[in-house]
This record gives sequence, structure tokens and C-alpha cells, in this order.
Amino acid sequence: TAITNHMPTAELQALDAAHHMHPFTNNNELEQKGARIITRAKGVTLTDSEGNQILDAMGGLWCVNIGYGREELAEVAARQMRELPFYNTFFQTTHVPVIALSAKLAELAPGDLNHVFYASSGSEANDTNIRMVRTYWAEMGQPERKVIISRKNAYHGSSVGSGSLGGMSGMHAQGGMPIPDIHHIDQPYWYGEGGDSDPEEFGLARARQLEEKIEELGAHCVAAFIAEPIQGAGGVIIPPDSYWPEIQRICDKYGVLLIADEVICGFGRTGNWFGSQTLNIRPDIMTIAKGLSSGYAPIGGSIVSDKIAEVINACEFNHGYTYSGHPVSCAVALENLRILEEEKIVERVAQDTGPYLKEKWQALADHPLVGEARIVGMMGSLALTPHKESRAKFAADAGTAGYICRERCFANSLVMRHVGDRMIISPPLVITKEEIDTLAERAWASLDQAA
Ligand code: PLP
Repeated sequence: TAITNHMPTAELQALDAAHHMHPFTNNNELEQKGARIITRAKGVTLTDSEGNQILDAMGGLWCVNIGYGREELAEVAARQMRELPFYNTFFQTTHVPVIALSAKLAELAPGDLNHVFYASSGSEANDTNIRMVRTYWAEMGQPERKVIISRKNAYHGSSVGSGSLGGMSGMHAQGGMPIPDIHHIDQPYWYGEGGDSDPEEFGLARARQLEEKIEELGAHCVAAFIAEPIQGAGGVIIPPDSYWPEIQRICDKYGVLLIADEVICGFGRTGNWFGSQTLNIRPDIMTIAKGLSSGYAPIGGSIVSDKIAEVINACEFNHGYTYSGHPVSCAVALENLRILEEEKIVERVAQDTGPYLKEKWQALADHPLVGEARIVGMMGSLALTPHKESRAKFAADAGTAGYICRERCFANSLVMRHVGDRMIISPPLVITKEEIDTLAERAWASLDQAA
């Protein structure tokens, strides 16, 4: 018999457990509980197989920027599948969706970021970046410039290359990461690691670790520095204001290429088209994915400066994926960008719903369990603490307050994620003020229940 939405939840869960290996999950533990089955979604609201309506404050996985259920994207995908479902871009061919999307991204991206190399995901795009910056330096006659510096607790993807760029120790412990010539410096996480220091002094000190690392290795060995403008999966860690200007100064001084991983921060999340604009960064490459198509189709890529493209375009870069510039994904992404632009969604995040969410979010800092409530645009975090003044952490073995809070949220029809004792949100950018009120009420109630 066909497996459909109409099957009883328990039967679907049993089949899921029998045959589906979930990413980043202890599948045996999940089998005991049964995975929650999401059957449909509209706007910011998910429906599960039991008919529960859940406010998705994570935008899927930080990606559904325009919200669920936009017919226009379905139409465009169907039209493109009928017209040209696939063609490759390897062998001296191209197609209109990839041309149109590339031109549009060059228009939206800041500075001289005018060239796009496509992938299907952020992980693949960061793998491209590793090879591209090293190839750039080799072509420039400096093949020893191979090292890429990244940060502990950064997330850049899950492939061997991108996972090596990332600074997640739990990932590095499995399966042979990091690959050689990747170095990690500390993150600008004042709340968790800053002790008694002044936040701005701390931000400077953390940025200067980049300079120390470059000096230690020799600038002639360093190809690039990669970072998320605001760390997402690490717990929405918003750096002190002093941090990025100092990083930019150091990259400029040593000629180290700067890669801004915009996979989460891009496409309106921070109130500008790109996080680099919000944080005043001048990257040489931006990694994009997620909000590029609002998650409706898998697509990622690297937006590359004139300077780098000139060199890479002059050699044969032996790199690419079957789905680089997939026509359906490109058509969907282009329609998504049209909606973001025409409905002034990025402007609304900057000037209207974003400030409203900020006010409601920051009010959660009054809760006894919350040590810090911060947000930029529509990515926010709460730091849970047993003691606000000392910013103490909960005992690590207590199942974490964050985990308990996340479970309470779920029970209260709200999806928030936790990273240790940090609660995080990244809602669809189209969330209304009324929905923001609901989000804040459910978050407060869940905190109460977790306390
Ligand atoms: N870079 C950042 C900043 C991310 O947050 C992610 C995913 O969460 C990635 C890269 C990897 O993207 P993907 O999961 O599409 O491979």
C-alpha cells in the first residue's frame, strides 16, 4: 500500500525509524520517541500528522525566508521542469535561468562581487571556496598560500572540507576531520568566554588572534580567513562592535582573502541583503545557500570578486557539480528574489517587523532564566543561566536547560532550537506582528515551564 499523509502517525514513525537515518541525530533514541511528522506548512505555521499547528520560529533550518506555501515558486518550478528540467553547465553550454540568476546576484551583492559559482548546498559551496582560494594563490605564483583560518564553534557545513572549516569539536571527532592546513582561532563570544573583560576589548583581543596566527604561520602561507558575519549554528553569537573592523584591517594588511559565509546571514536575515553589509565587511567571496531559494529548491554558491574571478577564469578550474546551476533551482531562486524585492521584505525586517521583534525578544531578558537576549534583524538568541550576574552555566550533565526549554517550546507549539543553553530563533522574514506576539508569549511560557 502507498505510504501517504493519511496513514496513522505511529505506522509512519515505525517506517521512518526502520529505513531513514536522520542527520545529526541519535536514531535509536529518536525511535523511542518517534519523529514528529510535518505534513504541510503555510506562512510561518507548520501542521503535523496529528493536526497540531506549530509556529516555526526557525524558518525550517534558517532558510524559509519568504515563508511557506508561496504558489509562485511552485508555478515557476513546474514551468521550468516542463521547459528544461536539466542541462549541465560544464561543457560550453548555459541556460536562461542560470544567466538571469547570476546577473541578479551580481546586482544585489555589494562591491565588485560580480561572479557566481554554483553548488547545491552551503557545504558544497564552501568546498568550492577551499579549492578556489588555493587555486587563486597557485595561479598567482604563491602556491604555498594554502592555509585557511577559521574559528572554533563556527559552522560551515558537513562535508569533509566544509566540516574541517567549521570548528565543531563533535564533528571533528568523527571521520577524519579536519583536513590539513586548516587552523582555528577562538570565537568572539563575550557572554560565554569573556569573563570580567570589557566586551569591546574582548572583541579586539579575539580579532587579534587572527593576526597572531598569521604571524605565527607566516603570511606567505595564509590563503584566506572564513567566518559567518554572525555565527548561526554555534548559537547566534553576535560579535562585539570592535571585532569585524579589526578583522578587516588584518585581512587587508596581510593580503589574506576574506570569505564571508552568508548561508544564514544572507537574503535579508540581518536587515540587509547580506550580513556583510550589516557588519560592514568587504569580503572577497560570499558563500550563499538557504535563503537564496528560501529552501524551496536546493541551491548554493560562491559569489566571487572581480579580482579572483579574473584569475580563476583564466585557468581551467577542474571543479563542479552535476547540479551546478540547476535550471529548476535557479528559476526558483530567481522568483524568490523577486518576491523578497517586490514585497520589500528586507526593508520590513530593517524598519518594521524587525524592530518590533527586537523589542519583544529583548523583553524576554526579564525572565529569571535569561541572562542575555540579543537579536540582529531576524536572528536572535537567549542565553539561559542559573545566575544572571555571573553569567554562570548550567551543569553540563543536567540534560541542559536549553534542551528542556526546547522540549517545552515544542509542546507549546513553537519551534525554537537550542545550542547548549542558548535558545535561538530565525523565523521566516514575513512573520507578522501578531505572530511575533504569539512567538514571545509561547517563549515566555516555555521558559517558565523550564525554570
Ligand atoms: N554555512 C553556514 C553558515 C551554515 O549555517 C550552513 C548550514 O547550516 C552551511 C554553511 C552548510 O549548508 P548546507 O547545510 O546547505 O550544506
